Amino acid sequence: MPLLVMKFGGSSVADLDRIANVAAKVKAEVERGYDVIVIVSAMSGKTNELVGWVEGTSRLYDAREYDAVVASGENVTAGLTALRLQEMGVPARSWQGWQVPINTTAQHGAARFVSIPRDNIDQKFAEGMRVAVVAGFQGIAPDGRITTLGRGGSDTTAVAFAAAFEADRCDIYTDVDGIYTTDPRIVRRARKLDRIAFEEMLELASLGAKVLQTRSIELAMRYNVRLRVLSSFEDTDGTSGTLVCAEEEIMESKVVSGIAGSRDEAKITLVTVEDRPGVSAAIFEPLAEAGVNVDMIVQNISERDYEEHPGAVTDMTFSVPVNQVARARKAVEDARAAGKIAYDELVVDEEVAKVSVVGIGMRSQAGVAGRMFRALADENINIKVISTSEIKISVLIDRRYMELAVQALHDAFELERA
Ligand code: ASP
Ligand code: MG
Repeated sequence: MPLLVMKFGGSSVADLDRIANVAAKVKAEVERGYDVIVIVSAMSGKTNELVGWVEGTSRLYDAREYDAVVASGENVTAGLTALRLQEMGVPARSWQGWQVPINTTAQHGAARFVSIPRDNIDQKFAEGMRVAVVAGFQGIAPDGRITTLGRGGSDTTAVAFAAAFEADRCDIYTDVDGIYTTDPRIVRRARKLDRIAFEEMLELASLGAKVLQTRSIELAMRYNVRLRVLSSFEDTDGTSGTLVCAEEEIMESKVVSGIAGSRDEAKITLVTVEDRPGVSAAIFEPLAEAGVNVDMIVQNISERDYEEHPGAVTDMTFSVPVNQVARARKAVEDARAAGKIAYDELVVDEEVAKVSVVGIGMRSQAGVAGRMFRALADENINIKVISTSEIKISVLIDRRYMELAVQALHDAFELERA
């Protein structure tokens, strides 16, 4: 029997009516001839509540007990969904992570998959079960304790099951009807994409389009799992939503597919650092040790070449999430106090945003950067830092112009048009 994985997020299972709606969608696929593995999240808000209970009980909590508590939200929705399906006459059974078993590493709160043996579920399918409802977000460590995968982890559970069971497709049901060229709350004419490549989705997800957990996309790319993102609140068929798939499956050849804006950025500059071998390592090693996520890095060219002029100086600029500024500052200042680095001044700008244009078409097309910078210039927006990759160009700008920049770029690359 062909097999489908269907994943339902928290808002899709928020109450009993919505669970009934989910069950109806699953039943429709069963009637189309599929065996189905359903992955469910906890009811919306539930995981936050459980995390709050843990933190309210123990400040420096034991991560194993955090997982024991926080994994429970998914157990409830898995059981209820199986019950509702049974009420509708569909042979269904729920599975908690340990029952499958979903084997993970022992990193509690951020566990990774090790293996998902198929035997138990396959045997039940062979005996006539049509739907396995699996609790997302959880697994079991080698020592038998319950683990969780990190917030948003049910997406990754769904992709892992689609890979393990060689599903025809992995449908991710959520409260939006697909992936858009940019945030529709910023640009009203943002367009829903029919297809987007894994690489593009990865860039957009890590830039803050929070529809899919980043790790789920990495996994889908590695195992070539076709992902469809669609709404559980609309009537859908096999062609609704947005398909996240391999580059080869994309017919539309746009240079730019999407624009992302991220407002929680900060820019840090070390003024007048020595220009000599080892300076960058001396700055960024302590930042890494302090757990600071450095994103963009720019080292200015010093006026004089180091080879001919030892003692030349330069400036070093980098960006970090705005809530990590204090930690970054401390790491750098400690390194300076320890004599590992020297600079004249540390300048922090906490009022910046990052805007990026993303598209696999950039690989073969020149002129994207020029077009992007012209669009920003026409709005009189100053660019503070630029960085590029094969399929992305990002700029840091003044935060108050972020919406304006996203709109201008959406227009400049004509993304409202298919
Ligand atoms: N319930 C978990 C969370 O809220 C996992 C998920 O929904 O993906 O993070
Ligand atoms: Mg989610």
